[in-house]
Amino acid sequence: MKKGKKIYEGKAKIIFATNDKNFAIQHFKDDATAFNNQKKASINGKGILNNRISEHILSNLNQIGIKNHLVKRLNMREQLVKFVEIIPIEFIVRNVATGSLCKRLGIEDGTILDKPLFEFCLKDDKLNDPLISKEHIFEFKWATKKEIEKIEKYLERINDFMVGMFRGVGIKLVDFKVEFGRYNNKGKIEIILADEISPDTCRLWDIKTEKKLDKDRFRKNLGNLIQAYQDVARRLGIFHEQTNIRPFKLLEPTAVKIKKSK
Ligand code: UDP
Repeated sequence: MKKGKKIYEGKAKIIFATNDKNFAIQHFKDDATAFNNQKKASINGKGILNNRISEHILSNLNQIGIKNHLVKRLNMREQLVKFVEIIPIEFIVRNVATGSLCKRLGIEDGTILDKPLFEFCLKDDKLNDPLISKEHIFEFKWATKKEIEKIEKYLERINDFMVGMFRGVGIKLVDFKVEFGRYNNKGKIEIILADEISPDTCRLWDIKTEKKLDKDRFRKNLGNLIQAYQDVARRLGIFHEQTNIRPFKLLEPTAVKIKKSK
């Protein structure tokens, strides 16, 4: 399969067309952004780690019947994926209250939730990805009832699987964000998991120490982001396979630009 033109460039990834309209190439960049693009940096090696970690999680999810866009990892930074129409909603699953939930509702940081909490945000940077309800989703036809029912079942199973997987390696899955897309499988539209699942899109705390092993290290200027992502990869048993990841200079953000604090 041949790599074609750039179709889309997001904050942390680029999507390239291929010579087959059903497939695309997903490229992981080193760029990190937070607070809706107000804070930016390039973190040497982050894309390589996210590519590998996301491949690991998505291929495990595939093995338990969660259909997703990953076909195969092509190289250090790229994956061959099924080309989907992304549903413009960020699906957030929370097991422990933190981040925007605490800010918005005054809930104490670290409160354990009785059951996983699902939130829906509209994928729209200009509007700051606002929280929306299911009624909004149906009214504005961002997704159908049937699609949301299917996605909610997937969310439950993805969460159960990932909580267990991370707990097994001493990590608490606090929350995460996923995206879904519509894939045209020979004329039949299927809802499949898309995008990535990585320390950029999850909150991962060490079970014993509550040390943050995710993008909060960047958001909160905690430093050592690459070491934390490497720790996640190492615990998942996938770090050693990628010897080329090792020689990173352990750099912190090379250019941090803060427009205004939130
Ligand atoms: N998240 C994400 N992309 C976004 C917003 C959130 O991957 O654009 C993830 C984030 O990493 C966390 C979860 O979704 O694991 C919940 O994030 P929250 O709503 O608390 O957002 P924040 O505190 O980052 O504003």
